[in-house]
Amino acid sequence: MKRNLITKTPVAGLSKVVGCPTSSTGDIMAPDSDEDDWTKYADTGYESNYDPWADLVSTNEEVDDFEEDIDEFVDDDIGPREIPRCPTPDGIEHAIKIGTCDYCLGRVSGVRIGGDPLEEVGARVRKEASERDSDIKPNDDVDCCPFCEDLFMELDLIAERIISAVEGVEFQKVQIGIHFAKDHVAAEEVLRTTVAATGSRPLKASLSDAVQNAVSKRLPGISWVKEGPEVMILFDTLTLGVNADIRALFLYGRYRKLERGIPQTRWPCRACRGRDGGCESCKGTGQQYPDSVQSLVCEPLVSALGASSDSFHGMGREDIDVRCLGSGRPFVAELKSPVRRNPDFDDLVKQINELAEGKIEIDRLRFSNKPEVARIKETKAEKSYTIRFSSDHDLSSEEIEKRINNLSGQTLEQQTPQRVAHRRADKVRKRKVIEIEEIIVDGKEIQFDVRCESGTYVKELVHSDEGRTTPSVAGLLEADCEVLWLDVKDIHAD
Ligand SMILES: [Zn+2]
Ligand SMILES: [Zn+2]
Repeated sequence: MKRNLITKTPVAGLSKVVGCPTSSTGDIMAPDSDEDDWTKYADTGYESNYDPWADLVSTNEEVDDFEEDIDEFVDDDIGPREIPRCPTPDGIEHAIKIGTCDYCLGRVSGVRIGGDPLEEVGARVRKEASERDSDIKPNDDVDCCPFCEDLFMELDLIAERIISAVEGVEFQKVQIGIHFAKDHVAAEEVLRTTVAATGSRPLKASLSDAVQNAVSKRLPGISWVKEGPEVMILFDTLTLGVNADIRALFLYGRYRKLERGIPQTRWPCRACRGRDGGCESCKGTGQQYPDSVQSLVCEPLVSALGASSDSFHGMGREDIDVRCLGSGRPFVAELKSPVRRNPDFDDLVKQINELAEGKIEIDRLRFSNKPEVARIKETKAEKSYTIRFSSDHDLSSEEIEKRINNLSGQTLEQQTPQRVAHRRADKVRKRKVIEIEEIIVDGKEIQFDVRCESGTYVKELVHSDEGRTTPSVAGLLEADCEVLWLDVKDIHAD
């Protein structure tokens, strides 16, 4: 007889070994980029449409011979190439003899109807087989189910481990990723395409369903999702280890900075760099400044939500000595690994504002997400400033107003200011002054409001940075100008 009438190509890509996910570092990533790896583990459901026979290649000219061969061999001892397949009685008998467990029998026997629990289907199939022939039982040398290696027997243990991994964590949306050893997946594929009925559900999808059901029974109210989970569970079939990744909670708000001398984000002490519990110059705080907008906003949030740490993402930032008024600056606070995620926002806003004692305040909080972090980082919002400076001019108030008003609508050329040259590329940027308003001349002190394009260096617009910004107020007044203070009056963003 002919051998190898049917050749099977290996099924690629069913298992991907990827590293454990690391928690977000606070760096800005493309939206959801750290979730990509997880989805490779996850039961995406696509396997359910997978036809295990789809990749079979038959050698056409020999088909007739093949059928004749089968007829001749019907009552003979079955050789390794002629394993009967489910759902035929012989196929089911074979599956039972090689030690297939009830769960796997339920999914490979090809007699499952609707959503019957796998183990019930398997037990029924086994019972029917033994009613046909009471000798049908597993071979003596069987030590585990050849399909699942007895993973389905461990469902209770797996569910317990998952539940203890998320103990005390508030969540509703959960996603599971199951990681198999690559050779297990490959071996199961081969066995299933040899023994199982056409269209049998793959191990990974079936186990994933079974684990989800087992967990849901104990934790009613959770919902299993394919994306955007609050908790991601990774289960490793080799070690039966469970790893729960509590996804960060993102909250959006706008802050007003009412005092000068506060940096937007935490700033490690220059002397000790924040290491080893601080030093003398930072009084053991590890911080260059006692407060930051980040610490004032996030610390109450971290404690209210039981988070492990935070990141702060602002729509740009003002200098330490610059206040931020008006409707405030949009931000997203990222709370890592929060055990609570349904806070009372009004309460939190009140708490933050009380603890900040007038240094900063926020207007409100709402749920946000990682894509919004990218959005606010990328938004180039126009801003209005109020700036006050002193000048040794010899001009009348009217003349000063006239000359400063001249800046309305002009495009500035700003070479990278000396004060930021150490961290910014040295180049000339063009920025538009949209409008000048509210010019106040008070002897040698002058003040005005200016609305300008995002990225304008406003202090330099006044003092000219030794001619690096043109035109400038100093240039127009033909006098030295020294900035006294600057406020962000408003940020024109949603
Ligand atoms: Zn099994
Ligand atoms: Zn220090």
